[in-house]
Amino acid sequence: MRVVVIGSGPAGLAAAAELALKGAEVTVVERQSVAGGVPRLCGHSPYGLREFHRVMGGAAYARRLLEQAAGARILLRHAVTAIDERVHLSTPDGPLTLQADRILLATGAREASRAERLLPGERPQGILTTGALQDLWFGRGLVPFRRPVILGSELVTLSALLTCRQAGMQPVALLDEGLRLPFRALPLALGVPRLRGRVVDILATDGQISGLVIEEGSTTREIPCDGLLLTGQFRPEAGLARMAGLDIDPETMGPRVDARGQTSRPGIFAAGNLLRGVRTAGQCWSEGRATARAMLES
Ligand SMILES: Cc1cc2nc3c(=O)[nH]c(=O)nc-3n(C[C@H](O)[C@H](O)[C@H](O)COP(=O)(O)OP(=O)(O)OC[C@H]3O[C@@H](n4cnc5c(N)ncnc54)[C@H](O)[C@@H]3O)c2cc1C
Repeated sequence: MRVVVIGSGPAGLAAAAELALKGAEVTVVERQSVAGGVPRLCGHSPYGLREFHRVMGGAAYARRLLEQAAGARILLRHAVTAIDERVHLSTPDGPLTLQADRILLATGAREASRAERLLPGERPQGILTTGALQDLWFGRGLVPFRRPVILGSELVTLSALLTCRQAGMQPVALLDEGLRLPFRALPLALGVPRLRGRVVDILATDGQISGLVIEEGSTTREIPCDGLLLTGQFRPEAGLARMAGLDIDPETMGPRVDARGQTSRPGIFAAGNLLRGVRTAGQCWSEGRATARAMLES
């Protein structure tokens, strides 16, 4: 059986390892230059407890997943642009088409952009999601700002705080309307004040963000900063699924799947964060393995 797995995060690599172990001819397609999905650019733990029974950092965890998928062929810097009966790719050497008996979509999720959050004000440089910041810092050693405001209060907000700390940044504040943040002691320990409010204006000087105007209850005030870090509000990376005409679940905005992980089109399966926004890597890994088994039986 020829299987194409789209995405090399925990879900895709776990599925690829399982499929290759059972004798399938597996190709993993990854648009980035290094495999491993989100974890490979996470400089912090905890990863790996469910899968490897130990606490690991993101990069070590991604390497371990990759070792386990050694039986699969991995194509890096290859992006899937469309799926029909075949899988169409854009590659550094031009377009390429792969034949497949089964396809697994494991394209993950991403945090909401500034536009999706309907933030008002100028459109300067210095507005990033946690994922984009980690790409710059862990991937390339670049520090895009020094004193950002962090927006949001989800688990990934803690990842943003830790990344800022590792990169030597001192966030000015952690801002959210709800302040549902888990592990509340962390911002306190890192000396980052938590504010309950919302952004009503973004200020810029020479094309770079220079401050925010925030509304806290009935008062409005300006906070100087040189960056805005958008955290959370994950959305499935479901563009390919939509283009392929797969049914989309209106609640999760990911492709609709049955109990085996099969989408509305026979032969095309989906697993991981693509199905629902963010979960732990271990949950995505388990789901990737289970879906691989269902693919082999289908
Ligand atoms: C900042 C951050 C910190 C986190 N910290 C933790 C933590 O400490 N512990 C934990 O357990 N979990 C953590 N998580 C969650 C965990 O990393 C994710 O749940 C997990 O990586 C999801 O796995 P996935 O395989 O579904 O997708 P991803 O890891 O997102 O992988 C999807 C892959 O698909 C590729 N792709 C997408 N579209 C295409 C295309 N068209 N063609 C080719 N390739 C494509 C992407 O480039 C990506 O490599 C964190 C998540 C984030 C964002």
